[in-house]
Amino acid sequence: MSFRVGSGHDTHRLAEGRPLILGGVRIDHARGLVGHSDADVVLHAVTDALLGAAGLGDIGDLFPDTDPRYAGADSRIFLADALSRLNLLGWRVVNLDVTIFAQEPKLGPVKAAIKASLAELLGLHTDAVSVKAKTGERVGHIGRGEALGCHAVVLIEKSGTTHEPEASATDSNGIHLTS
Ligand code: MG
Repeated sequence: MSFRVGSGHDTHRLAEGRPLILGGVRIDHARGLVGHSDADVVLHAVTDALLGAAGLGDIGDLFPDTDPRYAGADSRIFLADALSRLNLLGWRVVNLDVTIFAQEPKLGPVKAAIKASLAELLGLHTDAVSVKAKTGERVGHIGRGEALGCHAVVLIEKSGTTHEPEASATDSNGIHLTS
């Protein structure tokens, strides 16, 4: 069994006239996040954590914000695409830990819904998903309510035979080599 860890981080600006979608959950709030896609800062951080764990680049490599196909896109498609890429390589998600940074709105009432959504999107039991919320302590772009941020950490595992290099080998003389 081999394990890899990945981390992802994202920030989006808050503005009026935009929907607020966090972790695939539409949240009732006067302002929402600005971006080329639906600007789901949570799903973007989680997608980057998945891609990072598997060494597959970042969300901007796969889904450029200059590509008109992704204008207004539901960010669940980014997560699903990244997950299928990992699964094709034999990786399975073990657990996910997410921290959302928001001065507003208060996330306490919606944390459980975001956690359930992330668990469903990743095919995990809710016990394997953690969603934490922090304010910006009223300083900086988060604390002034100008933006929301998200940090995500994911662990992935792969079992059975892999196509990765062997940790050790035997040379032509039968001498055991250790790399
Ligand atoms: Mg983003």
